[in-house]
Amino acid sequence: MIYCETPTLEQWIAPPQEDLPRPTWTKLIADRFLISNSLEYADWHASPAQPLVCETCWNPGCSQAGLANIVRLGDQLLWLPPRMQANSPLSEVNFIAEPVLMPVVTWAKLRETISNLPAATTFARATLGDLAPLWLHEIPRNGKIRKIEDIASWLRSALASDPLDLDVAKLTVAALVDWICSNHEQTAEGRILRQAACGNAVNTFYFDGYEWPSYLDGNAHSFACGGEWIFVEGATS
Ligand SMILES: [Zn+2]
Repeated sequence: MIYCETPTLEQWIAPPQEDLPRPTWTKLIADRFLISNSLEYADWHASPAQPLVCETCWNPGCSQAGLANIVRLGDQLLWLPPRMQANSPLSEVNFIAEPVLMPVVTWAKLRETISNLPAATTFARATLGDLAPLWLHEIPRNGKIRKIEDIASWLRSALASDPLDLDVAKLTVAALVDWICSNHEQTAEGRILRQAACGNAVNTFYFDGYEWPSYLDGNAHSFACGGEWIFVEGATS
């Protein structure tokens, strides 16, 4: 996950199009990763949002790149790969490559410069179903898990768990999967925290050759979601 608290803004002149006057655009860059090439011309309320504008025709809908489901979790904004219907022509190549976590304050500061950005409150609140892909995204590729429903059977190949005993930890994860699956549309109440700031250990599963930091010991409704980050239900800023 990319943390975007102090993004780089880069102004540039839009590429030429016929004999139209060329507007000034602002790129949003976090961690050398281009999130938007034109904060001004992006479509923030398309579903999913279209942060990358086509450089030929200036339309956000044309490039079909970097598409993101932007949702609000308390004082944080999340840019997630969108959930697509089975018959959608779009695939992962059209989506934002890495999820982004941005404090709402950062977005508010961007709005001071780019006046056409919508208020953070206009983005939908995150549901558990929105957040679940973050947990999946962190499962090492060796795990080859595509749906959270498959996690429990995959864990049968785990060799050890720390700090909790393997059997206890597997039960916790099974309950966590149940909770998410049966409350997909429920608004997520909580916050994404730095693991180091949580106090408790992140329970980690060990496999042959790789490991999976999974959830926060002592919080039944928490899941690791990107390197040093973890979603914790009930956490506030
Ligand atoms: Zn175009």
